Amino acid sequence: MDAISANQALVDPNAFHNHPYPALMDVVIEDSPSLITFLLYESKDDSEAKSSFVMHENLARSSSTFLEIAIENTWIDTQEKTVELYGFKTEPFTVFYNWVHTQQLPVSFGPQRDVSAQLQDLDLVLTAYSLGEKLHAMDFKDALLDAYCWFCRSFEPYSNYIILGPPIQIGWVWSETPPASKIHELLLDCINYNGGEPSLCEEQVELFSQDFLRAVAQETYSKPGPEAVRHKPIMHPDPCHYHEHGQENNCYKARLF
Ligand SMILES: [Zn+2]
Repeated sequence: MDAISANQALVDPNAFHNHPYPALMDVVIEDSPSLITFLLYESKDDSEAKSSFVMHENLARSSSTFLEIAIENTWIDTQEKTVELYGFKTEPFTVFYNWVHTQQLPVSFGPQRDVSAQLQDLDLVLTAYSLGEKLHAMDFKDALLDAYCWFCRSFEPYSNYIILGPPIQIGWVWSETPPASKIHELLLDCINYNGGEPSLCEEQVELFSQDFLRAVAQETYSKPGPEAVRHKPIMHPDPCHYHEHGQENNCYKARLF
């Protein structure tokens, strides 16, 4: 049977990338016409939701193409709806939820912070970025990519080489995001800028995934030398160079002021 069932779709949010409709199917009719309760389950085996988030319908629609299409295609009645999300974790969804309501990310980088605190925030940025890919949340991803560049820039006083972050974290976000993801492009440009080296430390290279190292090798081969990347990627003169909004949409930054 080729058709994907509702249950199959619920199990794997990545199914959205391969099928025209998203993985949000359960709609429970309640009172308010404009609020949606999202129930988060980490896996299909969970008997209870790990967390719940109430969002205004318009915010949910405008902040995530995934949620917008889900609402379009699962609408049963104009009452309060409960949508069950499987394969979603609470912490990155909290970052998304706060971003939607405040346009702020709960992270901070720079020499004033100790490295372990910055690495914790980096982890939040990368896991949230992976969530942003699942949700097709363009502004959210653009802001997170800026935050990642901020993390990298905080190490500039100590090295001419762009510090990408721990290989395990970078390898994780590489494998958890699609090849066309902007974070892939940024990482490869950074590595190319560094002369084709994914890490300062040879032992660390072994911690990257084979997929990642293969992509690095191909990129380095196709664009050899740091000259191939004219601008330092983490401080590109076009602040929207790695953003997804394009010409047709305003940058999230334009709405903050
Ligand atoms: Zn922009």
